Amino acid sequence: MIHIGIGYDVHQLVEGRKLILGGVEIPYHKGLDGHSDADALMHAITDAVLGAVGEGDIGQFFPNTDPRWKGAPSRIFLEESASQVLKRTGRIVNIDATIIAQEPKMGKHFPKMKEYIAAALGIDPKKVGLKATTNEMMGFVGRGEGIAAMAVASVYLPE
Ligand code: MG
Repeated sequence: MIHIGIGYDVHQLVEGRKLILGGVEIPYHKGLDGHSDADALMHAITDAVLGAVGEGDIGQFFPNTDPRWKGAPSRIFLEESASQVLKRTGRIVNIDATIIAQEPKMGKHFPKMKEYIAAALGIDPKKVGLKATTNEMMGFVGRGEGIAAMAVASVYLPE
């Protein structure tokens, strides 16, 4: 049976933080604020994979009140979602995700992002689709106050 999961995440853009998306540090004058490395893309994908296997969200596995996850690389959240799939002897069929950011341009970072995301999930980078869009200058994303990401995951589970 194929199961589908959806994930969404958003973090605030602030001064004095690194901008990390899909595990890639992107040169920019602001970064995403959060308890971990605030990688909204990896967080959205983590939630999508967890959703596909009927689990709760990333916060249930990694509470942001737990000092262990302070500054943590979000790769470990993705790895946990993949292990939840393996635990059920399932496999991830594919991931598709969109970054919503007014700035900076993301496209040239996609190959590395796909590589890091795929490595954390234990899948081929060809199974990771990535896109980016601006918010046409509208709303908090359009004003550059934050960056959002949404993702879907398709997971095969043996009933
Ligand atoms: Mg998050």
